[in-house]
Amino acid sequence: MASAGAACLPAVRRIAIFGGTHGNELSGVFLVRHWLKDRTEIQRSTFEVQPFLSNPAAVLRCSRYVDCDLNRAFTAENLSMPQSDSMPYEVKLVQEINRVFGPKDSENAYDLALDLHNTTSNMGNCLIVKTSKDDFTIQMIHYIKNTLTPGNCNVLLLDNPAVQYGAIRTVAKHSLGLEIGPQPQGVVRANILENMRKLVNTALDFTHCYNEGKEFPPCTLDVYRAFEKVNFPRDSEGQITAIIHPELQDGDWKQLKPGDPSFLTLDGKTISYNGSSPVYPVFVNEAAYYEKESAFLLTQKVTLKAQSVKVSKA
Ligand SMILES: [Zn+2]
Repeated sequence: MASAGAACLPAVRRIAIFGGTHGNELSGVFLVRHWLKDRTEIQRSTFEVQPFLSNPAAVLRCSRYVDCDLNRAFTAENLSMPQSDSMPYEVKLVQEINRVFGPKDSENAYDLALDLHNTTSNMGNCLIVKTSKDDFTIQMIHYIKNTLTPGNCNVLLLDNPAVQYGAIRTVAKHSLGLEIGPQPQGVVRANILENMRKLVNTALDFTHCYNEGKEFPPCTLDVYRAFEKVNFPRDSEGQITAIIHPELQDGDWKQLKPGDPSFLTLDGKTISYNGSSPVYPVFVNEAAYYEKESAFLLTQKVTLKAQSVKVSKA
């Protein structure tokens, strides 16, 4: 019997694992290719799991994308775009992903999507959630954090419209982004791949226990909630005029106070962070974000709560 207040939720029967959503983030590319050949490691008896190479043409080129960023293209506008020869490659892909794993927001959609990414920033193990209101996903992350060595996994909440984007994992009812770093683009490092592999398997173990009827008691989860992106200082032609300050470089998840160094000009002038309160920067100097005009993202610490969850018998 579920205790009073437990959320009785449906079983998680179909899980997608996306790798190569960005073609030059190689941990997910290598793992998904491996699992497409042999999925023994990721299979559990209570669900079906589908590994999927999201952007095969970008993977072949070892580039982030071909025409536009697949992980920004999952938008209502693109999903309803009429088919044509001039359609960007990634828009064709989001429509296919929506057909296979969705449709988004429908009963037919996959129950859970795990999307595997690497970052060049010093983020360590990072899990990304899109909402503070999904008890199943909060419980899953709580389980992952407690199963792995404490303190070596941080959670980024992207529920603020200022920092949200059209991520393909949102096709499923529950979703989790994995951002493991630091790893250069086009490189695969054994330690980073191993960290990603453990996170995926721990998420699958949680889901299997949940499907088997284990009740997870109410929990809290400390997360970093992103609220703003900070651009590099630029001149009137858009050229970057100051680089990430050495004291901020690799300082992801570490407190940045007003007055702390954030940028350094080429003439050696320090530019300080001029916010009004301490923040926690993430994605500091991420290679892929130069084109997105983001030198780092600002976050604040918040604590999320989840009710007890238990699978419904129906
Ligand atoms: Zn990525």
